[in-house]
Amino acid sequence: MSGTLFIVTAPSGAGKTTLVKGLLERDAAVHLSISYTTRPPRPGEENGREYHFVDVAKFRELRDRGEFLEWAEVHGNYYATSRVWLQAQIDAGRDMLLEIDWQGAQQVRKAFPGAVGVFVLPPSTEELERRLRGRGTDSEDVIGRRLLAARGEMRHVAEFDYVIINNELPAALDDLVAVVRAARLRYANQHARFPTYFEFLEKD
Ligand code: 5GP
Repeated sequence: MSGTLFIVTAPSGAGKTTLVKGLLERDAAVHLSISYTTRPPRPGEENGREYHFVDVAKFRELRDRGEFLEWAEVHGNYYATSRVWLQAQIDAGRDMLLEIDWQGAQQVRKAFPGAVGVFVLPPSTEELERRLRGRGTDSEDVIGRRLLAARGEMRHVAEFDYVIINNELPAALDDLVAVVRAARLRYANQHARFPTYFEFLEKD
């Protein structure tokens, strides 16, 4: 029994977090993988729920012990996915979703070639700029750097299986739900889920 691994990647401002939250509400069989990070918790975030929050020394110790399936530095902080924990979830037949950046996605794909990659794009670069500005207090300099970083991230879109353009949230959410449902219907998944059903076809 093996679950499906979904990787969802997007530049900041594309609306990925809202989309993933919507998916988890619509589909209780999808579970979010909880990453490790060295960035401080934001208001409302809880250790062990959004992230495992650790300091840089602890992060390096875990990384050097080989605990991580992948890790990356994003906007000056470290992020990583736990190898053993994720493998155990997948082996238990759970569908897991990783919300990670493109560097992490590349590493995960090597370890899990069957992983389903989804890239979320903003409707346009103009809209992305508007959204990044909409956050309020950031300086022109910071916004400029974020836009440049977003463009760099978006160049990796072709490495993913599916692309969702987040024009209208409800439609984009329908798209993400559809991707998850379609992935579950792949032959390998159906075979793993219903082995006895396929037995009679495999007899001489
Ligand atoms: P935030 O700090 O806003 O929660 O996340 C910042 C970025 O880090 C996002 O692009 C997110 O996808 C990425 N990220 C979160 N967790 C992981 C992880 O475990 N590995 C990698 N490679 N990136 C992550």
